[in-house]
Amino acid sequence: MTTYISSNLGYPRIGEDREWKKALESYWKSEITADELKLQTKKLRLASLKKQQELNIDLIPVGDFSFYDHVLDTAFSFGIIPKRFQHLDEQSIDTYFAIARGNKEAVAAEMTKWFNTNYHYIVPELNDVTPRLVENRALTYYKEAKEELGIDGKPVLVGPVTLVKLSKGYDSGHLESIVDSFIPLYIQVLQELVEAGAEWIQVDEPVLGTNLSENQIALVEKVYQKITAEVPEAKIILQTYFETVQHYERVVKLPVTAIGLDFVHGDHLPAIKKWGFPKEKILAAGIINGRNVWRSDLDSKLSLIQEIQSVTDADTIIIQPSCSLLHVPVTKKTEKKVDQVILDGLSFADEKLAEIQILVKGTNEGKAAVESELNESKTARTVLAESPYRQNHQVAEELKQIGDEEVKRALPFAERIKLQQKQLNLPLLPTTTIGSLPQTSEVKGTRTKWRRGDITDQEYNKFIESETKKWIEIQEELEIDVLVHGEFERTDMVEFFGEKLNGFAVTEYGWVQSYGSRCVKPPLIVGDVSWGGPMTVKEIVFAQTLTDKPVKGMLTGPVTILNWSFVHEELPRFTIQDQIGLALEKEVLALEEAGVNIIQVDEPALREGLPLDHLKWPEYFDAATRAFRISTSSVKPSTQIHTHMCYSEFSEIFEVIDSLDADVISIETSRSHGELIDTFEVNDYDKEIGLGVYDIHSPRVPSVEEIKANIDRALRTIDVKQFWINPDCGLKTRGKEETVAALRNMIEAARQVREEV
Ligand code: GLN
Ligand code: ZN
Repeated sequence: MTTYISSNLGYPRIGEDREWKKALESYWKSEITADELKLQTKKLRLASLKKQQELNIDLIPVGDFSFYDHVLDTAFSFGIIPKRFQHLDEQSIDTYFAIARGNKEAVAAEMTKWFNTNYHYIVPELNDVTPRLVENRALTYYKEAKEELGIDGKPVLVGPVTLVKLSKGYDSGHLESIVDSFIPLYIQVLQELVEAGAEWIQVDEPVLGTNLSENQIALVEKVYQKITAEVPEAKIILQTYFETVQHYERVVKLPVTAIGLDFVHGDHLPAIKKWGFPKEKILAAGIINGRNVWRSDLDSKLSLIQEIQSVTDADTIIIQPSCSLLHVPVTKKTEKKVDQVILDGLSFADEKLAEIQILVKGTNEGKAAVESELNESKTARTVLAESPYRQNHQVAEELKQIGDEEVKRALPFAERIKLQQKQLNLPLLPTTTIGSLPQTSEVKGTRTKWRRGDITDQEYNKFIESETKKWIEIQEELEIDVLVHGEFERTDMVEFFGEKLNGFAVTEYGWVQSYGSRCVKPPLIVGDVSWGGPMTVKEIVFAQTLTDKPVKGMLTGPVTILNWSFVHEELPRFTIQDQIGLALEKEVLALEEAGVNIIQVDEPALREGLPLDHLKWPEYFDAATRAFRISTSSVKPSTQIHTHMCYSEFSEIFEVIDSLDADVISIETSRSHGELIDTFEVNDYDKEIGLGVYDIHSPRVPSVEEIKANIDRALRTIDVKQFWINPDCGLKTRGKEETVAALRNMIEAARQVREEV
């Protein structure tokens, strides 16, 4: 007889009403003290634990809480502090926040995407430090849960190999010795946890889902042999997620108690059938999708569990989400405005944990024990599948007409750029920004009032117009060459389009953490997507009437819209991506028709949907390129297409960027400290590029010299005729004063460089 127990891998930090974000931001604005911040977040943490306790989850994660990011927490607790912050107090929360956000003297640490998600972690810098155990965070949180709520939690740790692989500041040839230097620290952490009574300990090694070399997988084996030899009492669940484990047959033999596998984004059944699953081990099976918001097909999940059971013959199977629930909103119970048909089809973190309990009960006691729950779930799914959201046949017809042929612009870049230059008449090293301008509390507050119905549409539009006007004047005064309207009408670059395109729905509270305190509210894609009429024309045209300089049209691209939405699992992703591409094409043409000569189609999330397995990349990129080109290829040769991307590792995907065939690309580079620049030289890129010349993720105002140094460095490898000068991302999260000051310095730096070249 197999016993089934329930587990969770991590709970959202932000709270039902984003209390976490509010507390953090109040602290950063000095509105509350550090003690108050700790008090408020503790309350929230305990409330989240309590919910899991009430749902009877057997293994409740502890230590999944963070004040910013769990990778930063891990590094910080090992004393890994970048040199530029080492003079600060290593125990202080302000030092921790300084690393994450930068301070007046020093730039923040690099931030990058956590595997293929939209969660960003802070990259640890391993140069100039010898790791040591400063604080056993997991222990602190383990004790807290036990003392306050009587929960015997399951501490969660970022595993040593993943930690080091995600870090920088060392030569990759030294991976092994660096990992070795962490082993005694992990041993101590585990020992202390065991002594305090922790039974299960979850050690996350998501790198096992990536393409590891022979040396690297051998290193993983050595590491876990060493660790478990020292702390044999620790019941380690070695947890993987997001992909099929690449060296399955070796991973399952690691000397740990349990292996956690993702059965949603990974395809582990064939491996289990081929290699078996060790009888003495426990399987922690990720069954419920931890990265999507839709109700699961519980019947097929029950069959999946049965199949897993039949091929593993395991005594104990842990049923859990496929990954931490960090990637989904907290609860759907607060949603009041979503169409009931859609609402019934949703499942956020709390509901997912309830689904897990249904599965556990259904397997332990038999299907009959959960019959009514299964029926309810099935009905909700069927009603949605048969709803009008899924019946838009016209868009399917239009897509068919494009066929499989290559979608291309009428002229090659070398010819169209001449026409564009003639039309735009821009100076050497043109200056611009990425799109959004500061969304001050006034902007956000006015939008809230409008949403609540406290002010009329007309009043709201008037406010947006006055804000746009104010900033067009500021940009003119600063002498920026290509202006933006500022995106004041948008809460979020994806949600905005989600509210306007057919086939989408938006939630009120469906927030997930993106980076630090910043949360996004991904729209839902429930059915076929189509254009319902102009979405951005009014605002752009209004801005253009206020100035003689060009104002860029500003759209979010199809890949990003897809990757930052919660697409229903029954919908074919690439088809939906093409449908979004088609809808955007209509918007692009509407802008062009209205006289807009530069149109930016942002693709910050281009890499995000990338499978962790490199073999699956070409298919993904072909689809992405096609959708982008569907949206941008029909414009006149003289219309200039821009695109923008964030935090990508470009060397690997250079060809893809090239094949998007955008006339100008702007890239966020300043926070990776200039490491990307060489890519463009090596590859002989011929189109125009704006490498971010300062970091917008920090409130710090960069000096003219600093910006100029960034420009000079880029110009050593990139031709001055190809280069654009811009900040590295949108400015919506910044304040007005700091933005104006930083842009002023940027323009001055550009002026100085122009004089020198
Ligand atoms: N145009 C968007 C903005 O400026 C781009 C944001 C992004 O790259 N994430 O806000
Ligand atoms: Zn960006």
